[in-house]
Amino acid sequence: MIFNSIRWRIQVWHGVILLVVLTGFGLTAYKVVRENLMRGLDKELEQRFALAFFRPPPSGPPPDEPKRKGPEDGPPENRRRDHGENRMTPALFRARFLEGLERISANEGAQTNAFYYVFWEADSSVAAKSTNAPAAVPMPTLQAFPESGKPVPGPRGPSFRTRENLREAYATFPGESILLVGRSMAPELAAMRHVALWLFAAGTAILALGLAGGWWLATRAITPVEAISATALKIAGGDLSHRINAADAESELGRLAGVLNSTFARLEAAFAHQVRFTSDASHELRTPLSVMLSQTQMVLSRERSPAEYRQALEVCQRAAQRMRKLTESLLVLARLDAGQETMKRERVDLSKAVHESLELVRPLGGERGIEFHAELGPAQCQGDPERIAQVVTNLLANAIQYNKEHGKVAITTFAENHSAVLRVADTGEGVPAADIPHIFERFYRVDKSRTGTQGRTGLGLAISKAIVDAHSGTIEATSEPGVGSTFTVRLPAV
Ligand code: ADP
Repeated sequence: MIFNSIRWRIQVWHGVILLVVLTGFGLTAYKVVRENLMRGLDKELEQRFALAFFRPPPSGPPPDEPKRKGPEDGPPENRRRDHGENRMTPALFRARFLEGLERISANEGAQTNAFYYVFWEADSSVAAKSTNAPAAVPMPTLQAFPESGKPVPGPRGPSFRTRENLREAYATFPGESILLVGRSMAPELAAMRHVALWLFAAGTAILALGLAGGWWLATRAITPVEAISATALKIAGGDLSHRINAADAESELGRLAGVLNSTFARLEAAFAHQVRFTSDASHELRTPLSVMLSQTQMVLSRERSPAEYRQALEVCQRAAQRMRKLTESLLVLARLDAGQETMKRERVDLSKAVHESLELVRPLGGERGIEFHAELGPAQCQGDPERIAQVVTNLLANAIQYNKEHGKVAITTFAENHSAVLRVADTGEGVPAADIPHIFERFYRVDKSRTGTQGRTGLGLAISKAIVDAHSGTIEATSEPGVGSTFTVRLPAV
């Protein structure tokens, strides 16, 4: 399913997070704007009270109050004393409010969104009302005054209320009359609708841009992964030559592509090695098998003398022995490869191992007139005595086999740098430098024409290397063509 892809998941998560952030931001911005507008409106309403109260009448005292001597008229101490609550009677307040409000209302009356006011007496009758006030304005509830006993000259409030799209402020005066100032909220509501629309449009645009950007980024991030999976698919299909084309080798995915490429390369090499090994093994097994078949066919084609039967049987026996040697060697290698060959961990002295192997190969050397020189110093290591003896015998057999007639074989054992060392040097034809890296490979022979002759399998050095590897040791060869070869084995000392 395409919607299960990483790209879609990233996109969905990205979209959800973006939506939540934008919604949160939009709601907060809208709330802030709304509160600011309402605060502004309430401030304007408050100012109506202040204007009504503080704007002095154009001339003389309020109509129902006789002109009194003001605090400004007397001496400074009088001014201080008289300038206070006692001078303002509730009636004076009321009168000044009403006068101020009338003046303001008269000024603003013509404006479309003008303020209106309503003034109720204590008995709930409307004492004064601006011409633009709505027909029915419900009277607000009275606000209680502190029971100090002393009359409070100023108004109590203002408090605010919202009725439909009207915002009203009201204050209770001493004497329990109520003044209400109000205005339509239409401009504020229109402004808020405008802001909401803008926030929605901007939010939608940012969301669309964010989603497009997210899709682009996810696509960019996923492209190398898709390249990796496409290459892996081709490789799984059998074509091991494909490699991932990593554009940016330093990025995380570039490094992953590099690691996978080297893994694929190793896989390809191992696969090629395996194919070559199987074909070499079948080829090696086919040769003695063909010999046996041709011999038996030839003998059975007509009646033979006992000597002829015997000769044919001997050829078949030699072929069968060779097959057995091959299959045993292949089995050992397969076990060593699979780590199934359990190695004993015993103290082995290489000098002793050489001594025993020499006794085994000496007759073979004698046939070719080979001279042995042994310098066998103590070289203790830990390992499987039988397997180590197999390595020593292989090297000695090779040193005899690939030596010239009446050549020499020098064998030394010694301890060096925490290693037990065995060195076998011969005076044979040597190995060309180009072949040295390959002689430890399975079925590799320098002289291909010697295939199948003299019981050689091309597996001796491969088995020796596998055994040495299993002991965490090393085996290496140096050679000078025409002079001779030297094989050195190093095994960890006890
Ligand atoms: P083989 O059964 O052919 O001896 P090995 O694995 O023992 O197989 O050796 C692989 C090849 O390495 C041999 O075919 C030979 O060409 C070369 N080789 C091994 N030992 C020597 C040596 N001492 N001198 C020269 N060539 C050698």
